[in-house]
Amino acid sequence: MRKKIIAANWKMNMTVGEAAGFLDTFLLEVGNESSVDVVIVPPFTALSFVNDRLAKSNYIKLGAQNMHWEKSGAFTGEISAAMLRDLFVRYVVLGHSERRTLFGETDAVVNKKVHAAHEATLKPILCIGETLEQRDAGKVEEVLECQLRGSLAGLSAKELVETVIAYEPVWAIGTGRTASPEQAQDAHAFVRKTLAAIADQGIADKVRIQYGGSVKPDNARTLLSQPDIDGALVGGASLDARAFTEIVKAGLQA
Ligand code: PEP
Repeated sequence: MRKKIIAANWKMNMTVGEAAGFLDTFLLEVGNESSVDVVIVPPFTALSFVNDRLAKSNYIKLGAQNMHWEKSGAFTGEISAAMLRDLFVRYVVLGHSERRTLFGETDAVVNKKVHAAHEATLKPILCIGETLEQRDAGKVEEVLECQLRGSLAGLSAKELVETVIAYEPVWAIGTGRTASPEQAQDAHAFVRKTLAAIADQGIADKVRIQYGGSVKPDNARTLLSQPDIDGALVGGASLDARAFTEIVKAGLQA
């Protein structure tokens, strides 16, 4: 039985003051339920503040949106895994489609980051997903397999189990257009099949696979009820404390 994991990717939004307002409402509304993992992924500048506010919660974890693969050095503007651990970060989003498209991250770069995250005992949330052109050309499986094999190369069985995969069709991110539950389930089943080919079925059955792409309170429950959908990576709707609470509650009911 895989525990569901619902993450709020705030992207380049939320000052510390805005994060305080969000948490005042969210922590009150969501209560102390612990049968799902919730991860708040603020910008770097709000990590420390959010960690202090989450200190009393044993199920809401802190995540970061990116990191560099090197341990330290002359990499102006970058953040290392050890720096994130220093701030009590537990998860790190890697290979988000915005990083791949706007900042040129390749599977090889993402693979280095995934290894560096595990070395520092950070759990990667590895994002993969096809563009609309790739879907229309019938290349969904080819693209997902290539991203999975490239980004996960060289991981041990234990590291694979501690990696979260986020299937995020690029055409559904921030567009208001969601994959249908069937489209999402098909892609997730294929991801699990590929994980079984990379490692084995026992490992594939343990890996949590989130869906991301315009998840909202009104579509979350159906998506999260699919057999291979183990959580959600939420962008836009995670900026609204009440909407995000509803998505977490949908995860509890699914
Ligand atoms: C995301 O950024 O990972 C995402 C899925 O965004 P949105 O929910 O806004 O589509």
